[in-house]
Amino acid sequence: MTTNTIISSNFIENIINEDLKNNKNNSRVHTRFPPEPNGYLHIGHAKSICLNFGIAKEYKGLCNLRFDDTNPSKEEVEYVDSIQEDVKWLGFDWDERMFYASDYFEQIYECAVKLIKAEKAYVCDLSPQEMREYRGTLTEPGKNSPYRNRSIAENLELFEGMRAGKFADGARVLRAKIDMSSPNVNLRDPILYRIMRAEHHRTGNAWCIYPMYDFAHPISDALEGITHSICTLEFEDHRPLYDWLISSLEMESRPQQIEFARLNVTNMVMSKRKLRQLVEEGLVDGWDDPRMPTISGLRRRGYTPEAIRDFCERIGVAKSNSTVDIAMLEHCIREDLNSKALRAMAVLRPLKVIITNYPEGQVEQLETENNPEQPEMGNRTIPFSREIYIEQDDFMEIPIKKFFRLAPGQEVRLKNAYFIKCEEVIKDPETGEVIELRCTYDPETKSGSGTSTRKVKGTLHWVSAPQAIKAEVRLYDYLLSEEENTEEGEKDFKKDINPNSLERLTSCMVEPSLLQATKEQRYQFLRQGYFCLDGKDSTAELPVFNRVVGLRDSWAKAQKA
Ligand code: ATP
Ligand code: MG
Repeated sequence: MTTNTIISSNFIENIINEDLKNNKNNSRVHTRFPPEPNGYLHIGHAKSICLNFGIAKEYKGLCNLRFDDTNPSKEEVEYVDSIQEDVKWLGFDWDERMFYASDYFEQIYECAVKLIKAEKAYVCDLSPQEMREYRGTLTEPGKNSPYRNRSIAENLELFEGMRAGKFADGARVLRAKIDMSSPNVNLRDPILYRIMRAEHHRTGNAWCIYPMYDFAHPISDALEGITHSICTLEFEDHRPLYDWLISSLEMESRPQQIEFARLNVTNMVMSKRKLRQLVEEGLVDGWDDPRMPTISGLRRRGYTPEAIRDFCERIGVAKSNSTVDIAMLEHCIREDLNSKALRAMAVLRPLKVIITNYPEGQVEQLETENNPEQPEMGNRTIPFSREIYIEQDDFMEIPIKKFFRLAPGQEVRLKNAYFIKCEEVIKDPETGEVIELRCTYDPETKSGSGTSTRKVKGTLHWVSAPQAIKAEVRLYDYLLSEEENTEEGEKDFKKDINPNSLERLTSCMVEPSLLQATKEQRYQFLRQGYFCLDGKDSTAELPVFNRVVGLRDSWAKAQKA
């Protein structure tokens, strides 16, 4: 079968192409995405989702969503729901193939019995401490457990007793009987089942023994007819156990485990454990805080599924761990939003300007494009009047060299409107702070009228004061000030938390068209970046806009250099 062979672009596709050529698995391609429902999905999971569902799509195969819910103490329904929402939002569909490892608890138990009967598993009474001592080290072989040679009958009876709740939590375990002197510690009689009295979100209290991930996973894969079980690199050393189980259990279906490098991104933590810590300690506003690397956080921030999929595509699939620059993710969202976002004017730190020679009470409706790159997105009108707002930092009383914005006696263009010239500066008599500017406008310079040939260097955005809508704007910096490594066991990552990652500007003035903003619509606020309505905190009285990303593209710049 070579008809659906894909021109390979990564090593996983190479493997699949080879399998198809050899008619392995009857030329089926069936993958799965197996999240543990113990937290919200993050951008690293997005990589895995795009890969698994992407491969299925590419090869006209199937991809299952499977909740790997074998550890009841950490799992919750809230996470199950959020995971489904996030996968769908990313644009993928599991049709009717949504499964739970807990659906297979009975079959997994039967597999354990089968191993016992084949003398490939035994009940062990060593304490965790003793078990560690018996395990040996990377350089020394382990020692056989004194319980290793229990008879099949005794093992069956004890294992049944474990299930029936006859023993205390942790009193006994079921272990695979493989090889205590294997150089691979994962093969030194790994634990298959443990006793744990914990209520499971699906099976309730039906079970007091739960299978280990390493046991449940290959069985679940095989039961679902998965052909390629794609996981991250830390499971490479577990593959011999995976294969040992599939072959010892004589499973009909023979899934193949393939490992790839997990995604790490600079300035982001990518471990659910750490993300949960941020949420539980109130260091962020929940899992969907717009600074979080979670899919729900990125969504609330204003990222699009298209941009995230594009990012996952561009970074490719690697075999060794590395860290991707966050600037590349930002490049992807900028590229997507550049064509999609409506342009709008918003003044984040307003400074009032009175145009003294403009007729009092007059309002002009100026026509402008919604997106200069996409004429089909149409036009809108923006009001212009005698009182407007500009940005505070677009004015300098004593301008520095090459300051082409507004200064006493200096002239600028107001975007889509007129030239104005600063004639007078009004200050607060007590603080000396500039609170208002008096300017004149030149009626001959109306944008698009072409009557004036005079040129100015600076163009400012502005908002007409009487029609302006008050809004809150939230600007974000990275949650982590330093490059954060996601490897477990390293320094306390909370030391790297950036105390200035959120800046809330609560008296912004935005153009009236933004009254119609929805959380689906993205905007480019002129000279300020891309913005999106915050679906959670916005109210009719005070719309809240999140800055998705600024305009400066450091990644594209670095590529050109
Ligand atoms: P975490 O360490 O964040 O808890 P995990 O691997 O324990 O991640 P799971 O819910 O078990 O989380 O992951 C589901 C799937 O997503 C797995 O196949 C896993 O390999 C993959 N995955 C998790 N994190 C990443 C990542 N950073 N890059 C790529 N794939 C990932
Ligand atoms: Mg996990």
